[in-house]
Amino acid sequence: MFLLSGNSQAVLIDTGATADPAYFPLRRTVDSLISEWLAENPRDGYRLTVVHTHGHGDHVAGDAQFDDRPDTTVVGKSLTDVVAFYGLPEWPDGAATLDLGGRVVDVLPGPGHHKAAVVFYDRYTGLLFTGDTVYRGRLYVEDWQAFRTTISRLVDFAASRPVSHVLGCHIEMTTTPGRDHMIGSTHQPHEPPPQLTVEHLRALNDMLTEVGDSPGAPPFGEIGTYPHDDFVIWRM
Ligand SMILES: [Zn+2]
Repeated sequence: MFLLSGNSQAVLIDTGATADPAYFPLRRTVDSLISEWLAENPRDGYRLTVVHTHGHGDHVAGDAQFDDRPDTTVVGKSLTDVVAFYGLPEWPDGAATLDLGGRVVDVLPGPGHHKAAVVFYDRYTGLLFTGDTVYRGRLYVEDWQAFRTTISRLVDFAASRPVSHVLGCHIEMTTTPGRDHMIGSTHQPHEPPPQLTVEHLRALNDMLTEVGDSPGAPPFGEIGTYPHDDFVIWRM
């Protein structure tokens, strides 16, 4: 999860995998971070918008903790909600922006892993938030053609502006190239760092181009995987 602060509002990207505030006090943590920020940058009417990289359960479970928070919008997770909130009538084409006040975040349609996935680009830090679409782990592809288009567009997007890091939402790789931790692992010693680079986007795009329209054939192995040193494409 990521919390970005602008002059008029903060944006929380994703709410994690646990609903219960007793085990996972996300609201309390976010409130305390915003209070600290407001103590240093006092102003009235500061809002919070809760957005999602996509609607899978492990990215939206904490949403309800924000239901009764004043001055807060929680964006829905369905494709209809996403298209309506950002203003993306040409989905999956087009792009939108989210203005935090002096800090603009680009919102790009990014279906493939999930049909309502989006990618966020923070112009202030150059961070590209790719959710479960690109991260250091198993890239589960639900819609092959949509995924190819999304990655190709991200490569184009990244070619014309500075990208400091490509930040996804999980780490599943080990420090051994091409090896992931076991599915369901709760202990992952010697994790590599979360961030990836534009070079990784290009490598992924090249792999998808190589596979073309036939993800059922080699280089995919029997269980539908195609590994890179720092991620694994998983055909669903
Ligand atoms: Zn996901």
